[in-house]
Amino acid sequence: MKKKSNRPRVGTLGAGQLALMLAEAGRKIGVEVVCAGTPGDCAGRVAPLIPVDLKDAAQVAAFARECDVVTIETENIDVAVLKDVNVLPSARAIGIAQDRLPEKRFFRDCGIDTAPFVPVESEDDLRRALEMVGLPSILKTRRMGYDGKGQVRLTKADQALAAWESLGRVPCVLEGFVRFESEVSLIAARNKGGDMVFWPLTENFHRDGILRCSVAPFYDETLQRRAEVCMISLLEKMDYVGVLAVEFFLTGDQLAANEMAPRVHNSGHWTIEGSKTSQFENHLRAILGMELGSTESTGTVMLNCIGTMPPESETKEFQSLWRHDYGKDPRPGRKVGHLTFPVTASRDIYEWQKRLGVV
Ligand code: AMP
Repeated sequence: MKKKSNRPRVGTLGAGQLALMLAEAGRKIGVEVVCAGTPGDCAGRVAPLIPVDLKDAAQVAAFARECDVVTIETENIDVAVLKDVNVLPSARAIGIAQDRLPEKRFFRDCGIDTAPFVPVESEDDLRRALEMVGLPSILKTRRMGYDGKGQVRLTKADQALAAWESLGRVPCVLEGFVRFESEVSLIAARNKGGDMVFWPLTENFHRDGILRCSVAPFYDETLQRRAEVCMISLLEKMDYVGVLAVEFFLTGDQLAANEMAPRVHNSGHWTIEGSKTSQFENHLRAILGMELGSTESTGTVMLNCIGTMPPESETKEFQSLWRHDYGKDPRPGRKVGHLTFPVTASRDIYEWQKRLGVV
């Protein structure tokens, strides 16, 4: 698909809701977003879909040649296909974030605390890991885990082997169970010139491993500063360009990193309405070498719609909410949309938390 205008063009590898919201942000700032996807993918409602086999390096390279820069919407992509591609964030950053073992080691190299962890590739490793990490603990596949998939919680040693079997005996990490008080995430953007911006910490509430609700800001100046110091270390060590999200467990005043996402992140969807510049816009700005926009934000709450979208007739009665329907077919456990509220609309938020099963 040849470029017809002088507008910068960003290609996304994938065409789900993250690509959809990147394309919407692109429209606002005159950036063309085209998506490698298949017919029916939800980003196709606002952006051209180009059929590309994401496992085929030649096809990915051909797609990338028609774009100024390519980006990802999932870290679960084979980095080998990115060899000859101008991709941001870099293939190195994606490679670290897609495997829990180098990811956790990288956190530690950057001086960031994590839960204790031990790699598991054999039954012997599993026994040793149990001795070292103790119980309760969580056995997680190193790759392809998302929304709580690919992990089993262990409370007794004799559950471990069956748990590893159930995960397909693939390489795993055994991780100590953290009795955290909150889960918070920090989202930042860094551009090619090394400028960085940070959104306020966001508190996240999960159920069954899936994010249900994000509340921003999680206001604590000391924690904000501490999380930003962690983030700066990660961004600079990777010479990172784009948006990076880091999820932390908070216990007392201690932050332990759980994982990072080298892309726009569900816990930053509130920035579309809640911040002067959304994570989507700043991601495009960063990877195109543009100046980053202000992250000045107001209190905002985001609720995920899981499985099905509430009917429009119900949401339109609430003037306080912004409705984002990704246009996906309903399916249990699937993120099909989200609702955003100013934090002051606490009564409406509570009503929708009930309707969406958050409380
Ligand atoms: P993850 O796929 O690593 O993001 O895990 C999904 C969710 O499981 C997290 O958001 C936490 O709620 C929970 N979880 C993951 N790892 C741990 C841990 N080490 N200790 C306690 N809870 C955890």
